[in-house]
Amino acid sequence: MNPRVRIACLAADAARWGTTRLLHRGGGNAPGAVALRLAPNLIGELGGALERSVVITGTNGKTTTTGLAADALAAGTGGMVCNRAGNNMESGIASALVESRGAGAHVGCFECDELYTVRVLPALRPRALVLLNLFRDQLDRYGEIDHTQDVIAEALRRSPQTALAYNADDPLCASIAARVDNPGVPFGIDEPTGQEADRISDSRFCAKCNAPLDYAYVHYGQLGKYRCPACGWERPELAFAAVNVTLTCGGYEFDVEDRRGENYVRHHVTTRYSGLYMVYNVMAALVACLLGGGDADDFQGALDVYEPASGRGKTYRLDSGHSVVSNLAKNPTGFNRMVQQVRAEDGRYVALFLNDNDADGHDVSWIWDIDLERLRDLADLRCVCVGGTRREDMAVRVKYAELGCPIELVDGVEDALRFVAAGERLHVIANYTAFPPVVAELERLCKLGTVPNSHTPPATPPKGAAPSPVALERPLRIVHLYPDALNLYGDGGNIASLSKRCSWRGIPCRVDQVLMGQELDLTDADIVLLGGGADRDQLAVCRELQAQREKVEAYVEGGGALLAICGGYQLLGHYYMMGGERVEGLHVLDIETTAGTTRLIGNVAIESPVCDTPIVGFENHAGRTVLGAGEKPLGRAMIHGTGNNGEDGGEGVLHDGVVGTYLHGPILPKNPGVTDWLIERALRRRGEKVDLAPLDDSLELLAHDVAMRIATGR
Ligand code: GLN
Repeated sequence: MNPRVRIACLAADAARWGTTRLLHRGGGNAPGAVALRLAPNLIGELGGALERSVVITGTNGKTTTTGLAADALAAGTGGMVCNRAGNNMESGIASALVESRGAGAHVGCFECDELYTVRVLPALRPRALVLLNLFRDQLDRYGEIDHTQDVIAEALRRSPQTALAYNADDPLCASIAARVDNPGVPFGIDEPTGQEADRISDSRFCAKCNAPLDYAYVHYGQLGKYRCPACGWERPELAFAAVNVTLTCGGYEFDVEDRRGENYVRHHVTTRYSGLYMVYNVMAALVACLLGGGDADDFQGALDVYEPASGRGKTYRLDSGHSVVSNLAKNPTGFNRMVQQVRAEDGRYVALFLNDNDADGHDVSWIWDIDLERLRDLADLRCVCVGGTRREDMAVRVKYAELGCPIELVDGVEDALRFVAAGERLHVIANYTAFPPVVAELERLCKLGTVPNSHTPPATPPKGAAPSPVALERPLRIVHLYPDALNLYGDGGNIASLSKRCSWRGIPCRVDQVLMGQELDLTDADIVLLGGGADRDQLAVCRELQAQREKVEAYVEGGGALLAICGGYQLLGHYYMMGGERVEGLHVLDIETTAGTTRLIGNVAIESPVCDTPIVGFENHAGRTVLGAGEKPLGRAMIHGTGNNGEDGGEGVLHDGVVGTYLHGPILPKNPGVTDWLIERALRRRGEKVDLAPLDDSLELLAHDVAMRIATGR
């Protein structure tokens, strides 16, 4: 070992001793960080001593897949090094390597954060990178998914011998494979699985020509068997294919066909898991094991005894007779899988914990992309508790899902159990940093052996008298433009806010979605919504919208109410320049947008003539927008945030009935004043004399105040 690395390792040992013994912390990152500072090529040096290694990355399932692959590899080969606790940055991998040095490990299996692949791969030069999936997650850290794709592709280019084993069902992963020269090992599920599609999914556009993809079947999110009708790009032939996927009462069973040779080799796999996402994780772990030099015969044994890390998916039985199932979900796709689980088990009590710490992402708008409404079909849902640093936001989300049960704000699991009748089961779903405290509380309650706080029946939901119907000549028509493409930050929440606030007042309204490729008709539209989107999605919509330009222009000139968020806002202007590429706008507003090299990200609060209370939201955009002389911003007095361009203090645009803004969050649920402004404007334009009855906005205002506090740092 070179002397520099030896010293770095000794320093790391000291750091580990200090962090674990003196500071009582995990010691998963600090030793590696110290060592890397002294020997920047530590991963290369120590990793180079391993015979072979595999790295696992992707948005969901990294820790589970890595743990399982490591167990299977260890069963066959013994000496193995793995960063099991989920410290998946460069420092976590370095820590694991330092700790295991000299222990005779010759195989490495590492979980790696997507953005760190570009540092880890060139140093470690693993045999394979296993890419599980790419979903929207922590967008305030990752930017748009395109950026994550660029980083992973660059990592692969810098480690050309590394094979890319990737989920070919995910077009976002397959498009990375199409861009690099590394040997590819595509895996996927090669038959329909009869799943209900998620309402929102990440880009389903062709990586080559940006046309919308056709799917023979979808498993969930954007995962499925796709083909581009325009250029023929399609899901690659699978090297590993899951077939005969069946859900038995014990869990999923399936065969993984290894199709690499002339003759297919079949491995039968039996799991104890009932979520389809586990079919992918288990198959990916098997692929990782095989590419890492392991033996398929060791795999089933490892799977049978595998315990997911730190309380994930675990059931706790308490002395009080309660049982609690704890699950982690960090993004809409993961959350939707857990919602399905609660449905499959006829859940009666649910607790949702939402934090917005650094590791969670500060932007919580993603909760509006969860299909929470699907809990409506539970026959006997009795209470939904909400906790965490952004529990007020979650409460508003649950309120708009209209689940017909009380919503209780709680301080933790024990507090939530107050509302759960004896002998009943509570389903907990918590995001990243909200999850460990949940597990810690449950472990403590299990040890304590005492009955938690006595039962308080949840408050009955405020029914209120049904509003007397407002007579309109025809219902208000809300048109949601291209929700299949522009939907990046919970824009469905804006539609929910508009339609619920109408229906809670007895104002008849109907929502029409216009999907990509569908004819646009705005003649009797009353409120139009254009959501936010990633650059690639915007480009697809821009082509679609050009043919509809006159319709949108006539609607705006006629004083129509239109809410355009972020990407949608940019599209109303003359252009959006992203690098050398020009996204042609509709020229409906006199605004111009150019992408900068950095993104403007963070909580924002503005004062606006549209409503008395400041408007709060979250911004995340590369575009800098400049208003023409005749345009007025939506908000002038910036309390916080960068707004249109970070220079002139303006945010958004207010142009007759058009509200264009960079604020998502989504904007309307937390700013009911803006929703009501749009509804009033639409009614007035129709000549309807309706006074908007006041509503109980207590939860909305709580969420507003939390956002306001964060934005203003008070
Ligand atoms: N892609 C655009 C930008 O980065 C819009 C992003 C968005 O809609 N949030 O500026």
